Amino acid sequence: MFGWCGTVLRVDLTRGTLEKKALDTDVAKDFLGGRGLNAKTLFDEVGPGVDPLGPENLLCFATGTLTATTMGLSSRLHVSTLSPYSGIMGDGNVGGTMANVMKRAGYDQIVVKGAAEKPVYMLIDDDEVSIHDAGDLWGLDTWTTTDILVDRHGKGVCVACIGQAGENLVRLASTMVDKYASASRGSGAVWGSKNLKAIVLRGTGRPELFDREGFLALSKEDKQFMAKDRVQQEVASVYGSHYGITHWYPGYRNFEKELPPEEVPEQLRHDAWKEYEIDRVGCQSCHIKCKNLYKIPKGDRKGEIGEGLEYEAVYCLGTNCGVEDPVAIMEMENLCDAYGVDVIAIGNTIALAKDLYNRGIIDDSVTGGLDLSWENAKDQVELVHKTVMREGFGNLIAEGMYSLAKIIGGDAMEYCYHVKGLGRGVYPAGLFTLAHAIATRGADHLRGRSWSCGDNSDEDVLKDLTAKGIITDDPVHSMIHGERVTTLADTIGRCKGAVNTWTCALPLIWKGSLFDGLAEMLTKATGISYTGTMVEEVSDRIGAVERAFNARQGITIVDDMLPQRPDFKHTPEGEKEREAHMALVKAWYKENGYDPETGLPTTETCAHLNITDVADTLAEDGPLKKWDGPLLMDLDAYPKGGKRF
Ligand code: SF4
Repeated sequence: MFGWCGTVLRVDLTRGTLEKKALDTDVAKDFLGGRGLNAKTLFDEVGPGVDPLGPENLLCFATGTLTATTMGLSSRLHVSTLSPYSGIMGDGNVGGTMANVMKRAGYDQIVVKGAAEKPVYMLIDDDEVSIHDAGDLWGLDTWTTTDILVDRHGKGVCVACIGQAGENLVRLASTMVDKYASASRGSGAVWGSKNLKAIVLRGTGRPELFDREGFLALSKEDKQFMAKDRVQQEVASVYGSHYGITHWYPGYRNFEKELPPEEVPEQLRHDAWKEYEIDRVGCQSCHIKCKNLYKIPKGDRKGEIGEGLEYEAVYCLGTNCGVEDPVAIMEMENLCDAYGVDVIAIGNTIALAKDLYNRGIIDDSVTGGLDLSWENAKDQVELVHKTVMREGFGNLIAEGMYSLAKIIGGDAMEYCYHVKGLGRGVYPAGLFTLAHAIATRGADHLRGRSWSCGDNSDEDVLKDLTAKGIITDDPVHSMIHGERVTTLADTIGRCKGAVNTWTCALPLIWKGSLFDGLAEMLTKATGISYTGTMVEEVSDRIGAVERAFNARQGITIVDDMLPQRPDFKHTPEGEKEREAHMALVKAWYKENGYDPETGLPTTETCAHLNITDVADTLAEDGPLKKWDGPLLMDLDAYPKGGKRF
């Protein structure tokens, strides 16, 4: 095959088998790679009733169709599973080196099922794949594990692994790559449930392209255009995403409000972080280098280096938890990376716990004596340790925000601002909430990319997109384009960090319709004659399959909801706002060819998208148990171990 490697690695850890299978060419053509390949595999093989932490769940890794090519920003890998955090499709997109190395080793996708009897790690050395004992690594953090495996297998290998959070089945645990890059939605706990500690990869080949010279010329053109982008030059390369702290209204104290720029504490403003920065770094094959390398200046972790302190970490661990101490925020970011836990998920869950504590819904008898007053950073740092180790109150935080609210009971759910178990804040009905509501992995700042639909780019590109009717005032139309752009980025392996501006969103978006440039690149790479319309349909197909997957986990139209604060929710204005939101959601269903009453792709839509099997499966499965978060275990039944970091 051209473009793709043509190989899927199937691993069964129960049986200890490794099998290389040919990538189905029709599936590759229709779903491209990355998020698309994983969604198709999960829909086909993980049905209703599967325990996310049971051996029947799958852990899927997929590279993009254009990974390991000369396309810019192409080093992103998609990690997907039935999420133990949310109980629905849980996928994360991770940078670092793994995508390139995996593709250079010759694999489009790795699918892991079953569970090993004892801790193991996998070694992928180009064609050679083997499973090894990981008894000596179990209980170690991701940084130490990575160092040991690089020492053992030689410089130049990529290490993806879990820390103590994944081992202890903490539902907020991430897949960690190269120590600092993470894929979230609880995938780390799935590794832990399979007794899989690490994957070590070395890849020395490169994918064959149908027209290498032609592809090179197009990728050069794309990079030249991208290099002119002002937002990348002046914001992403200089500050990275924590620029947003002063510009994107971060949440404050469990979304009691969003902080306007003038209320952001001096020491947390985007430029204040320069004081701790010692270098700028980025994922492989990315010229933007949006991440900072920082050194902790004082305290218990003085001198420790960390990487990639992003907007999400500063607001989820900081302002939204009431913490305004930059040192404590850096300490918690490092703990999360070393333990392998998602900063957004743990931050949101702790923010909810602090809100409940400060309202008197829970007290010291529940927190085990931890003082969760908003400004108390010290006890919050301790709670991060306890969560990963599943000690005391940390055992409840480890279940995630939705499950925490369920376990506490009473009014707790009123303060759990979530969509499908994931939190992203409280906003009025409109484009932003529409993006959160319809994202298939739960409330999400990276799907739809609502702010991409406005004025953020090269003036000529904007004029052109407006003239073509792509940028409009209509949130529903904007959302359709935004969703397609982000879905396609996830399937070709392009970083969504670049999707902040139309100039960089996808390769050559100024050529023809929005997707003609990408179609041309895919044609040169694969030899399949893609058109802009075909590319659009790939995105629509993936969205439909993901929605169908979630429907089989009990998701219904009521889960495409609008989180509201209780003091507003129970008023006539609150009711009116929910109605306005659902009107937008239904209009979006209609545009997508989904049933307005169920939010599911209709039989006709499935036929048009060449996924009639999806419609058939949905019809066969009949009424399902309504989603109510992930299936939970007895809190005493979880593993609890590992060394504190
Ligand atoms: S923009 Fe940032 S996150 Fe994206 S590929 Fe570049 S360095 Fe990685």
